[in-house]
Amino acid sequence: MRMKTKLIHGGIDGDPQTGAVVVPIYQVSTYKQEGVGQHKGYEYSRTGNPTRFAVEKYIAEIEGGVRGFAFSSGMAALSSIIMLFNQGDHVVCGNDVYGGTFRVLSKVFNRMGIQASFVDTNDVAQMEAAIQDTTRAIMLETPSNPLMTVTDIQAVSQICKARGLKLIVDNTFMTPYWQNPLHLGADIVFHSATKYLGGHSDVVAGLVVVKDESVGEELHFIQNSVGAILGPHDSWLLLKGMKTLGVRMEEHERNANQIADWLNQRKDIAKVFYPGLADHPGHDIAAKQARGFGGTFSFDVGSGERADQVLRKVKWFTLAESLGAVESLISVPARMTHASIPAERRAQLGITDGLVRISVGIEDVEDLIEDLEMALR
Ligand SMILES: *Cc1c(COP(=O)(O)O)cnc(C)c1O
Repeated sequence: MRMKTKLIHGGIDGDPQTGAVVVPIYQVSTYKQEGVGQHKGYEYSRTGNPTRFAVEKYIAEIEGGVRGFAFSSGMAALSSIIMLFNQGDHVVCGNDVYGGTFRVLSKVFNRMGIQASFVDTNDVAQMEAAIQDTTRAIMLETPSNPLMTVTDIQAVSQICKARGLKLIVDNTFMTPYWQNPLHLGADIVFHSATKYLGGHSDVVAGLVVVKDESVGEELHFIQNSVGAILGPHDSWLLLKGMKTLGVRMEEHERNANQIADWLNQRKDIAKVFYPGLADHPGHDIAAKQARGFGGTFSFDVGSGERADQVLRKVKWFTLAESLGAVESLISVPARMTHASIPAERRAQLGITDGLVRISVGIEDVEDLIEDLEMALR
């Protein structure tokens, strides 16, 4: 099955009991048993629910893994992955990962004795130097945001294989439509499904897919023990959103490409950070490991004041955090998503006050360009 067909017919295709062409919302907490322990595969909805199972089976097929898991948010998904490790274990993590990833590792799991080192995942020497006897995994996000830094997943997976470490990849920005980390050597892939997978700004959810059955067993144990599950209604919303992932990603990509090209030709834009542009430092690796470049990127308008002006004037770009939905969103990372990073660290990373991030929606691209043109003027 090719990707677009898989997005429509993958996982559980409808409801065999009634012929309903989509999996219904099984809004239920418990299941009747014919005798003690005699049931139809479901006992209690924390352990398993048919609507949640449908989205779990679906994402597992789409990412090319053996088992999928749906959680109540991307952070719940990541936290459950980290709970696979033990007190005293250590992980090496990309230094420009999502702020919440940095926060949960450095302010929550460190208190439970799971330590993290943050490194540039493009610097092999730095990554190897950070590996300790207690290191269990390398975690990365590619492309990262807001600067869209691309990491070579296969290259990092070689290091992991040589050292017996698990490779965990946050695939939120690319989505399985463009990039499949498990095929590139990763062991665990996760998503904030709140973004492109849901795609309509109406659900907060997280998805995980694992390559090995044994890790799947362990993660199911954690999911059931800790209980950060996705509810049936949200699972259904996610299924509904994901059906159109292919057409949406194609449109996001086309629009983002055109806007990035247009911005790149303007003399009043200091820099455009889009991996689809040939002059982006990660362009070749992105082109090698992914089938597209995504729909979210950033550009530097020169100053914080000018960024403010752009945000005030745009009409079709909504000022909001988040990304990946049908409507275009705009934000200033230095004062919003990345505000918790100290100013000098932001400067080191290149997150300037004039940096504007856009999540390009699927509106008519002419309207989006006219909107930006007016706001920049
Ligand atoms: C939003 C996001 C997360 C966190 O997911 P939530 O669903 O908000 O909990 C993790 N990683 C990336 C790259 C994200 O954009």
